[in-house]
Amino acid sequence: MASRRSLLRPILLVAPLLGLAGCALDEPTAHPSVLLVTVDTLRADYLHSYGFPLETTPHIDALAERGVVFERAIAAATLTAPAHASIMTGLYARQHSIGVRNGDTRLEGVTTLAEQFLAAGYETAAFVSNVVLRRRTGLDRGFESYDDELVRGEINRKAYFERNAADTGRLALQWLGERSERPFFLWVHLQDPHGPYTPPDEWRGRVGEHPLRVTRPLKLLSDNIGPTGIPAYQALGEERLPAVYAARYAEEIMYADVWVGKVVAAAEQASGEYGLVTLFTADHGESMGERGWFFQHGQSTTPDLARVPFIVSAPDVEPGRLADLVSHVDVAPTLLELAGVPAIAQSSGTSLAGLVRTREALPERTLYCDTDGEAGAYQGSRFTRVGGSIASDRMTDVVRPLQVESFRIIEGGVWQSDDVDVVAREALVRYIEARAPLVAADQMDPEHIERLRALGYLPPDGAANEPTPAPYAD
Ligand SMILES: [Zn+2]
Repeated sequence: MASRRSLLRPILLVAPLLGLAGCALDEPTAHPSVLLVTVDTLRADYLHSYGFPLETTPHIDALAERGVVFERAIAAATLTAPAHASIMTGLYARQHSIGVRNGDTRLEGVTTLAEQFLAAGYETAAFVSNVVLRRRTGLDRGFESYDDELVRGEINRKAYFERNAADTGRLALQWLGERSERPFFLWVHLQDPHGPYTPPDEWRGRVGEHPLRVTRPLKLLSDNIGPTGIPAYQALGEERLPAVYAARYAEEIMYADVWVGKVVAAAEQASGEYGLVTLFTADHGESMGERGWFFQHGQSTTPDLARVPFIVSAPDVEPGRLADLVSHVDVAPTLLELAGVPAIAQSSGTSLAGLVRTREALPERTLYCDTDGEAGAYQGSRFTRVGGSIASDRMTDVVRPLQVESFRIIEGGVWQSDDVDVVAREALVRYIEARAPLVAADQMDPEHIERLRALGYLPPDGAANEPTPAPYAD
C-alpha cells in the first residue's frame, strides 16, 4: 500500500504544473468512490427490476431498489467499442475517433472519464472482458491499472477472446481489497450475456425455456449476421428452439448478476466514509426475434438493441423510477458531478445529478444511437433512423440518408411505423455530416499475436493484422 501512495503523490504534486490544478482534490478523501459496471449485450427487460417475469437478477434488483432506475435509457451505439467510448467520453459515437467501428479504431484527442478522476487524485482501475475493449483501442486512457488479459476464445470463434464474470470479478475484488484511504474509480465490464449463450453448468437449465413470440425451430445461418435464423457464432450444438436460446441468455444474465452483487458489495466495503456512487448499465441490447432478427446486435439502432438498463445509486440519491430519456453520453457528466469532480469540457451529455438528487427536470433532447451503416434519433416516444440497412462496405463509414424511417414506440417495447419525422431526419443528417475523423487502432501486442498463431488464426510468419471482429457480433 505504501508503494501505491508514493506513486500517487507525484501525480498530485505535478498536477498544478500540468494545468490540472482545478481538478486536484484539496482533501483527497472527502469525495465518494465511484463504481461503473457495464454488462455486455444486456437487454433491460431481462432484468426483473425492468419487468422480466422471473426473479433471476436479485443483486441488480437490490441496486435498483436503493437507486434511481431509468426506464428509458438509450445506448449511444449498438456495438461494444463505440458504446463504451461514448460512456467514457460523454460524446456520441460519430463525435469520437472510434466512430462506429468495433475493434480497428482508437480513442484519441478527447478527455476521458478516467483521466478526469485520475487528475483529481482518484485511484483508477478497469477490468474488461471483451476483445474489442483491449487497450489497443485507447479505452485504457486514465486508468492506472487496465486489466484486459482475456483467457479463452468463444466456443464457435476461437479468435474472439473473452473471459467470464468470475475471472474478471475475482481480479476486481482483489484490487478492491488492496485499496488505500483514497477514493477510487473502478470500471468493471462483464461479457457473459454476449453470445454464444453458454452459462456455467451451475446456471445452465435454471430458466428452462423462455418462450419468444416465434416458437418454431429456427434455421442456422451460415453467416454471423442476418434475419430469420440463428447466427453461426451463436450455434448451441444442434439446438434450434428460440425458447432455449432465450433461456440460456437469461441464465448468463443470472450468472453475471451474482458477480455484479459481489463487486458492488466489495466496492461499498472499500469505499471510505464518503460512500460509493454506483452506475450500472449495458453497452447495448440484443434482438430476441424483433422484426425477425434473433440473438444478435449491431444490425440496427432499433429499441431492442438501443434500450439498456441504467441505474444510479449514491448516498445522496433519492430512490425511484424515472421515465426521462437518458443516454450513455450522460454517464461521464453524471458520475463526475456526483463525485464532486470537474466536468469534461467537451461533452454532448447532460449530468443527471440534479435529477437523481432532487428531481430537477431535464431539458427536452434528441438522443443519438449509431451502428455501422445506420444512425438513429430518439426523441420523446418517437424514433427515426437513416440508413436502415447494413452498408455493403463497412469500411467506408457511410450511411445512406435517403433511406429514412420514423417509428412511434408504444408499450411493451414495440414500435410501429409512423410518418417520417422531417425535423429528426435533418438533425440526423447534420449529426452524421459533422462526424469526427477515425483513428486506426494500435497493433495488437506480440503475446496476442502468438496466441492467435498457436490457434491457427494467423500464418506462422504472416503480417500481424488482428482479425477485425465482425461489427455485429461484439
Ligand atoms: Zn457489446
